[in-house]
Amino acid sequence: MKYVILGNGPAGVSALKAIREVDQAGDITVVSPETWRYYSKILLTHWIAGKVRFPDLFLVDEDFYEMNGAKTVFGAAATRIDPARKAVELSNRQRLGYDRLLLAMGSSPQVPDVRGIRLPGVHYLRTFDDAERIAQATSSARRAVVIGGGLVSLKTAEGLLARGLEVWVVVSSGRLLSQITAPEDAAAVLRIFKEAPGLHILLNCDVTRVEGRGRVERVLLSTGQRIECDIVVVGKGVTPNLLCTRGTGIATGRGVIVNDRMETSVPGIYAAGDLAEGFDIARGSAAVNALWSSAVWQGRVAGYNMAGRDVTYAGDVAMNSVTFRGGCIVALGKTRPADGDEVYTLTTRRSDDSDYARLVFRGSRLAGAVLIGRAVETAGVLRSLIARRSDVARIKGDLLRGRMSYPCMVKDVAGLCALVAS
Ligand SMILES: Cc1cc2nc3c(=O)[nH]c(=O)nc-3n(C[C@H](O)[C@H](O)[C@H](O)COP(=O)(O)OP(=O)(O)OC[C@H]3O[C@@H](n4cnc5c(N)ncnc54)[C@H](O)[C@@H]3O)c2cc1C
Repeated sequence: MKYVILGNGPAGVSALKAIREVDQAGDITVVSPETWRYYSKILLTHWIAGKVRFPDLFLVDEDFYEMNGAKTVFGAAATRIDPARKAVELSNRQRLGYDRLLLAMGSSPQVPDVRGIRLPGVHYLRTFDDAERIAQATSSARRAVVIGGGLVSLKTAEGLLARGLEVWVVVSSGRLLSQITAPEDAAAVLRIFKEAPGLHILLNCDVTRVEGRGRVERVLLSTGQRIECDIVVVGKGVTPNLLCTRGTGIATGRGVIVNDRMETSVPGIYAAGDLAEGFDIARGSAAVNALWSSAVWQGRVAGYNMAGRDVTYAGDVAMNSVTFRGGCIVALGKTRPADGDEVYTLTTRRSDDSDYARLVFRGSRLAGAVLIGRAVETAGVLRSLIARRSDVARIKGDLLRGRMSYPCMVKDVAGLCALVAS
């Protein structure tokens, strides 16, 4: 059996391991335009900050592919899939035949439509090469502008601050982390970032222009403000890499549409990770959840099925976390309530008000939560209640009194925060 895996991230590598578990003899080829072995994207901003050593970024040894009997084509991207001939064309003009193909090419950063956005000194953070360029730029830079107030932008801002830069985070929306929290969380979220020395958060404004002679020197904002800066990092979200699915008959929506075996609409072709629409338990529907854990799990399910073991993907619950200078925010499942959902906001009576939880219930089930401060200790338990679709009617009172351990006995967090329901 010939397997081709497009992508060397968590989805691709998990699939490779799963295939090998089932089929020790099959021919496996992993393709990636990057030349590095499998590494952690989650650690990239910590590496920029100088808190993680270069070798610690890597998640497998150098001989990993060889030990797993897999060939690699690194430094080349898939450019075209030909399902009729069961072949993939690569940017280096190679053509690979397959019996089973996995699409695990992840996503790419969105490029905002802003004049000057292509000037040298404007960066994106998706790969190790991107991180290296940013780290290099920080050695001579003093002032940075980060465009976007999402998870990657805020992590990047923390990395740049750790390098001693003064950082402006420019956010279109009126709040930070707007994709994973709700308007009512805005003040509690902002409190985590507000007092950081060297960090300026500018809400409700856009970068309208990037200027400089030959490279970035300043940005202009929709408010009329000008910020002199040496680098700009754009974090305005990502788009699934669907280019080579065009004209193939592979059904796509926001991402590649898959069934619970991670099969696409074209026989023999599977998809997993950031480019796939996997089942989201909290929403009760398919969604592109750009999460490391979903990519690992989906890749594994795809790999097993590609190799002939029948396994289904039960779905995942989105869990995003951001730590910033000792503060922590976790967003779980469905954080924006729909009609009929019940919402409870819990805050501490402590003067700094730093512990916060907002729980979203749908009927007798927990659907989502935003947790800040010591409330994040309960994230694992709450995630598991959402993932198992547990009937929480019996323990709802405990949850709302802050006894969010499962089943309210593992560890009593109520004493931590004299929580009050509002
Ligand atoms: C800075 C940063 C911080 C993050 N922090 C978190 C976090 O804290 N928690 C979390 O859950 N998630 C986090 N994420 C998101 C997480 O990294 C992704 O959800 C995850 O990597 C998706 O895995 P994937 O295998 O689908 O795609 P990727 O990891 O993006 O891997 C895609 C692979 O496909 C390759 N590829 C691209 N195009 C082609 C092509 N045409 N042909 C062949 N190969 C191709 C790429 O080179 C790469 O090897 C973070 C992401 C970034 C960038």
